[in-house]
Amino acid sequence: MRKKIVAGNWKMNKTADEGLALVSEVVNMVSAEVTAPVTVVVCPPALYLTTFKSYLTGDKLALGAQNCHEKAAGAYTGEISAPMLKSVGVQYVILGHSERRQYFGETNAQLAEKVNIALENGLIPIFCCGESREMRETGDYVGFVKNQLTESLFHLSAEQMANVVIAYEPIWAIGTGLTASSAQAQDMHFALRQHLAGQFGDEVAQNTSILYGGSANAQNAQELFGQPDVDGGLIGGASLKSRDFLTVVKAA
Ligand code: PGA
Repeated sequence: MRKKIVAGNWKMNKTADEGLALVSEVVNMVSAEVTAPVTVVVCPPALYLTTFKSYLTGDKLALGAQNCHEKAAGAYTGEISAPMLKSVGVQYVILGHSERRQYFGETNAQLAEKVNIALENGLIPIFCCGESREMRETGDYVGFVKNQLTESLFHLSAEQMANVVIAYEPIWAIGTGLTASSAQAQDMHFALRQHLAGQFGDEVAQNTSILYGGSANAQNAQELFGQPDVDGGLIGGASLKSRDFLTVVKAA
């Protein structure tokens, strides 16, 4: 049985007070209302990770970071390393989000290093992949996304890959209100699982959680998560309101 995961990516949103209010609401609602076996990962701005750790306890709730540096320590002003994340109790780390790739120039090769250091430190990478609108309309978009996996993950052993979560996030769907249809999501998730099977074997591929991200919300989550190869979601906008987020969690 693959693990169902719903991760809330807060991005650069919420002040300390607002964040505390939101995480408290999410924790209370999950504790009171969620009975299904789903892991809820809250990924706040790094500044709040230490404070939030004490809220995100138990087997349903987990703490995630939005990024880490590829080196363990050193002269990298403003950066945060995987050992630091681990030391404050972080369990998951989002890597290769399209905003990181687009605005901060992160490459597949650099992400391979980030995946390595995350795994070395016992963090579970939520590895993001996805194509642009232009690529979807004119190019071999399935090949493009497969190649993101090849270049950033295929150096891993099957044992290492068993500790990686994938998030397929078509860039044209992120924050745009344009969601991939459930068929579009399923087709890509199926293709990626096949791709993983070719490299790591069937068992690892079948056990890898592949999340969907891109304008997933309270209205469409049920339909998306109902697809056989969609194992939950990476949620941006809809993770900023507790009731909407809970509805998405329950859909998994
Ligand atoms: P969105 O963002 O749900 O606001 O589209 C998803 C993401 O970027 O992780």
